[in-house]
Amino acid sequence: MTLNIIELKNVCKYFGEHKALIDMNFYVRRNEFVTLLGPSGCGKTTTLRLIGGFEHPTSGEILFEDTNIADLPPYKRKVNTVFQKYALFPHMDVYDNIAFGLKVKKMNKSLIDKKVKEMLSLVNLKGFEKRSIDSLSGGQQQRIAIARALINEPDVLLLDEPLGALDLKLRKGMQIELKRIQQRLGITFIFVTHDQEEALTMSDKIIVMKDGRLQQIGTPEDIYNEPENAFVADFIGESTIVDGIMHEDFLVEFAGCKFRCVDKGFGKKENVDVVIRPEDIKVVGSDEGMLVGMVQSVIFKGVHYEMIVKSGNHLFKIHSTKMAPVGKQVGLIIEPNDIHIMKKERVKDEE
Ligand code: ATP
Repeated sequence: MTLNIIELKNVCKYFGEHKALIDMNFYVRRNEFVTLLGPSGCGKTTTLRLIGGFEHPTSGEILFEDTNIADLPPYKRKVNTVFQKYALFPHMDVYDNIAFGLKVKKMNKSLIDKKVKEMLSLVNLKGFEKRSIDSLSGGQQQRIAIARALINEPDVLLLDEPLGALDLKLRKGMQIELKRIQQRLGITFIFVTHDQEEALTMSDKIIVMKDGRLQQIGTPEDIYNEPENAFVADFIGESTIVDGIMHEDFLVEFAGCKFRCVDKGFGKKENVDVVIRPEDIKVVGSDEGMLVGMVQSVIFKGVHYEMIVKSGNHLFKIHSTKMAPVGKQVGLIIEPNDIHIMKKERVKDEE
């Protein structure tokens, strides 16, 4: 049996002239927590709706364990969805909301009772059976929506920005809780967010999207440490991105200097994007650095200072535990391993 529970093969989705998804290819393993991540309008919800059966692909295949389900209606898929706006029934109490799916299936009452209790315990809301929906907080409503989806024992749970309406503290708590539920039940979760920190915190695998196209697929560590293009580097975490040109012998030139770097097979004189993370730039005395610049701004962030240093025409964002005051000349050191060279991805912008 295949390890893939869901696979998209060359999937395109057009709304009239608008190309919402272009040639999407990815797979999701059984029991994986996979996140679709990208800016607003990049096609995350459309991808989820295709998997859920609420949209039909313009072309391509959607496989569930190797079977094409593109023509299967939502209720015949072993997939359930939790939407951002929970979609709870306001006229029913908590019990009836959670039990709804099983009542529709005409399951016997004592079994429904048992399962509703299990679900309430799973989402830490024991004893809430008789509460009305409008007496619950946003976080509690969210947990009821998850319980209602999980009681049907789907193989895959689709979650469309389920934490979007919660305040930051509650959101962080729910991130941990959702991950715990997913690990405990061993259900495959496909989660949509535009929040990179949320994606890094929760996911086994992240699928980064932009303008309906895949940008990169990988573990949180892969995506953060080895971004494949400047968009991913900029979207996931912070970075300084500057234009560079490759020279022979593992050398890249940017900001008026030549730096040693790790060779990734770029051609001589090739124009590249150079990406550097703020924590990878070391601030030293102005006579010690490879680059020299002037401190433009300093903000205390608790664990580090965030500084902007201007060198030539370039602004470098730096996280440092040591502070240099605004106006001071400093040197900057960047290790070869921390200079990420990327192919210029300007094709889309020029179209
Ligand atoms: P957000 O984070 O804002 O929810 P998203 O990444 O989920 O965005 P989608 O909702 O999938 O993006 O939309 C992708 C693109 O397809 C957008 O440009 C959107 O306007 C367009 N689109 C989505 N649904 C339809 C539709 N039914 N008809 C026409 N265009 C649509």
